[in-house]
Amino acid sequence: MSKSRKELDAYRKARDFRKTPEPRGAGSRSKPSRRFVIQLHDASTLHYDFRLEVGGVLKSWAVPKGPSTDPREKRLAIATEDHPLEYAEFEGVIPEGEYGAGKVLVWDTGTYRSLSRDPGESGSGETMKSAIEDGHVSFWLDGKKLQGGFALTRIRKGRDKGSSEWLLVKMDDEKADARRNPTSTEPASVLSGRELSDLESNDS
Ligand code: MN
Repeated sequence: MSKSRKELDAYRKARDFRKTPEPRGAGSRSKPSRRFVIQLHDASTLHYDFRLEVGGVLKSWAVPKGPSTDPREKRLAIATEDHPLEYAEFEGVIPEGEYGAGKVLVWDTGTYRSLSRDPGESGSGETMKSAIEDGHVSFWLDGKKLQGGFALTRIRKGRDKGSSEWLLVKMDDEKADARRNPTSTEPASVLSGRELSDLESNDS
């Protein structure tokens, strides 16, 4: 519990919770299945925030082009600060002047399971955590838009812990589909059906 709180220091330091509608993060809520969420974030540059529930927080990467279902497409993913689990349901507008100001939609969400090799303790969060620390992690997504295996591989360590560069790639399995292009054909929120243009700047 206190561990999650410490991991959220960078997240909280960057934000003024009297001004932004984003959750402060009360702590970890434990659930048997682990969640993932991909949020479309229209900030200074449009990007997708890819988040995996690991060890009571959402491990996060900013993916400028978003995920692809084509295994030949490698998408740059920049590691960002851990977010609270409650963030998985956040949709709304971060006010101007605040960190990450702009509109946020829940573009996809669901559960995932680790595909990373497990040296003993099966199903534990430790496998995901150590795989991320080692710079290579693979997992199976069961989302509304995305399904199947994906891998994240670190290609460059950042100056600080939070800005390393990774590649997000669809694994070549039965859910791979080079003809799908969900980031352009399926822009709506899976929670509300809204698109970015449906969110008002003063809405939260
Ligand atoms: Mn973002």
